[in-house]
This record gives sequence, structure tokens and C-alpha cells, in this order.
Amino acid sequence: MTQNNGWEPIIGLEIHAQLNTASKLFSSDFNRFGDEPNANISEVSVAIPGSLPVLNRAAVRKAIQFGLAIRGNVQLWSRFDRKSYFYPDCPRNFQITQFDHPIVIGGTVIALVDGEEKQFAITKVQLEDDAGMLKHFSTFAGVDFNRAGVPLIEIVSEPCMRSAKDAVAYATTIRSILDYLDASDCNMEEGSLRFDVNVSVRKIGEPGLRNRIEIKNMNSFSNLELAIDHEIERQIALYEAAPNKKPGEVVEQCTYRWDPDLGATVLMRTKEDAEDYRYFPEPDLLPLVLTQQEVENEKTLLPELPLEKERRYAREYGLSAQQSYFLTSDKKTATFFENALQTCLQPKMVANWIAVEFTGRLKEKGMTISESGLRPSDIGELVLMIQEGVITGKTAKSVADEMMASPGLSPRTIVDKNPSLRPFQDTQLLEKIVSEVVEANPQSVKDFLAGRDRAFSFLVGQVMKRTQGSAQPEQVNSLLKESIARRT
Ligand code: MN
Repeated sequence: MTQNNGWEPIIGLEIHAQLNTASKLFSSDFNRFGDEPNANISEVSVAIPGSLPVLNRAAVRKAIQFGLAIRGNVQLWSRFDRKSYFYPDCPRNFQITQFDHPIVIGGTVIALVDGEEKQFAITKVQLEDDAGMLKHFSTFAGVDFNRAGVPLIEIVSEPCMRSAKDAVAYATTIRSILDYLDASDCNMEEGSLRFDVNVSVRKIGEPGLRNRIEIKNMNSFSNLELAIDHEIERQIALYEAAPNKKPGEVVEQCTYRWDPDLGATVLMRTKEDAEDYRYFPEPDLLPLVLTQQEVENEKTLLPELPLEKERRYAREYGLSAQQSYFLTSDKKTATFFENALQTCLQPKMVANWIAVEFTGRLKEKGMTISESGLRPSDIGELVLMIQEGVITGKTAKSVADEMMASPGLSPRTIVDKNPSLRPFQDTQLLEKIVSEVVEANPQSVKDFLAGRDRAFSFLVGQVMKRTQGSAQPEQVNSLLKESIARRT
């Protein structure tokens, strides 16, 4: 990678995704964000001695579906382990997770990076429960255990990414798979998806890996990208400043966090080894045993997944890879597009109005089209009006501006209400303008008759200019040809 001056970044990602089950992983306590602190807790959530975990079937099914969606190997025999850690957010003093026998082993994700498909490998997917949350007040801190016991899947990738862009594309694809499966609400602000990233660098061609730095707990794609880029630069600078030292002495294996205000990674702790967690099999739970039939059943329930949809859009509608990817990477955008097609079956134009025109207009509001209040049928109707020649493409852009200003108004209503947006309907006046243009541009008429298409386009342009773009191009074309034919 030239921009890194002979250095190659090696990146792996661990993604924690909260599953959107009704109850927690090992109890019937509600799994709900935003409730009063400590409203959703029973003996299990706060680990009263003697309370016992009972595994949530819905969480297991979502994990199986995710495993199938990434073409991983769903394990018919998996097991839970205790991972010891001592912190006030964890009343048991251990997390129940899966260590050496996770529910899914292996898997692949295909994501679009700079318009090209790249394949990323997944090591494993494990089921585990979330911790509570510490809240800091002016003179004290409190613990909210509502989140304690919420089901998570931890999705561990191979160190297979080579840039921050790769990592963001991979993470975006994981999010859309979870979204399509309805396995998680994927609400990043509420922490439903959290990223831990491992970053190291090495000289291009160097065998083996150097020490890696783990950056923990980011919950936005932009922070993920910034943190990785910053960390790559920091490590390269360290190695280049100490060319004679052993690499292991220059960068030690540590855990950092990303500080968005500082724009830098901040050291949290030197890395603990797996032994520090004292993993051992959870004695209160039986191994998780599935039948092949159960796994097959889940397979039949899988919906069309983002990559399948993307390829179908390209195949059936002739959309570009980039545009299909844009429309399908968010399930709600894909649904919006498909609903708009119900009104107007012009996939390329509808796709373009959604992906380019309206998305461009929505950018500064930071909204997607499904959040905009615009109705799919209105986008369809707008395209239909262009198709029917009721409005020109140019007028349609002004109509789109009006739709943005007052979502809920249909494009036909907008055009009816605004005389300036109405198409040029005075045919007599249009004929007059056309003959004036023909009169005023004899050279262009000559060129057109000599077979130069560009001369004709020029004449059309002149007419459109005089009608402020409101004339219908087909009508202008035919009137121009008639007028020229009359003169020759
Ligand atoms: Mn974890």
C-alpha cells in the first residue's frame, strides 16, 4: 500500500451485537433499552446466590440464523464458559460466554469496497450475555443492571482487513445482515452494535504478525474509521523512529480506547492473557445440543439477504453494483425502493431519484430516505410524471425541492399549486418560439441538415432556454423538425 510507505496494516474486528429478543439470555427479564434504571431485573440479572440461568431459545435461533447467513458451520454441540472479571457492572463476577466451543465456527462476508467485491473471513460467532452499565453522577456512581444479561453475539473476524475502509465495509455488511435477519435492532447510538478492533502493521512481504493494539468499544462507523487510521499512523511513526529496536519492544500489546474529542487513542491497560480470565465450563448450564433438523428449519426461514438482493437488483433491473449496494445495504431503503416501483416500474430512474437526487438532498439533514417522511409512491409518481412528459427532468428537480420542504404533498399536488412548475402548455406560443429560434440560427439549421446532431441539440437548447426549461422536450423536438422541414 503506497500511501503507507511500504507498511501494511493488518486489521481484525470483534463485533458485539445485541440480539433483539423479548427477554434476556438466561432469564425472563425484559430486554428493553431506555426503561427506568433497574426496572428489568430479577434474581438472575443481579446474581442473587442460588439463582440459575435458563437459556433463551429465541437468542439461540437468531445466532443460528446469523451463522447460516454468513455460511458458517453451525455447531450441533457447543458449550458455555465462565469468563472471570471483577467490576461493579457484573454482579456475578464472571460473564457467561462461549470460549473453545462456540455456536458458529467459520464464515464469510462479501462487502463492496471502492466499488469492488471483497471477501472477509469470520473465525467464530459466540453467544454471551452483556454487562450492566455504570452511570457517573457528580459525587457518586450508580449501576443500572437493565442491560445485565441482555443476549449478545460476538462476531470475531480473521485479521483479514488491510485498511480502515475494509473494516467499515465489513462492519456495514454485518450490520445489514443482522438487520435483514431482524436479529438486532442495530441501533448504534444505544450501543446495540459495538466494535473492538485489533490493529498492527508490518513491512510489506514480512512473514508473521507484529504486536497488535486493541481499541475497544466504539459504536459508530466514523469513529471506527478515524481510530484505525490514527492507530496505523501512530504505529508506523513509532517503528520508523526506532529502526534499530526489536519490533516487540517498540509496540507492546495493549488495550486502548478511542477518544473522539482528543482525536487519539488513549491507553487503557496492558493486555491481559486468556489465563487472566480463568475460563472454565459453566457448571449451571448443560452443553447446547442442536439437531441437524433444527438447523435445517432455520435455513428455510432465512429471508433474502443483502448480497442476494444486491445481485438481483443488478441482474433484474440493470442497476450498477454501486447503486444496488447503496439501495440494499439498508433494509428500509430497499423496502422503500421496492414500494416506489409499485407506482412506477422504471427501476433505473426510480433508483437514481432515490440514490442520487433525494439522498443528496437529505445529506445535510443526516437522514435516510425511509426517515425523511417522503412516501415511496410520491417518488414513483414523480418519475411517472417525467415519463409521461407532464414535467421535464429540470422541473422535476424543483418539484423534488418542494417535496423535501413539505413531505406528504404529492408531486401532482405540488405542480397543480405552483403555476411556475406547470409544464408549458401554450402550443401556439411554443410554435412561435420555435420558428423564432429557427429564424435566428440559420447556420445551425444548415449544420443539422448536413447531418450534425449537435446543431439540433443546440436549437433544442435555445427553445428550452426561452421557456425556462418548462417545455416538453419531445414536443420541442417534433415542432423543430416540422419547422425546419417547412423551410426547406
Ligand atoms: Mn465478548
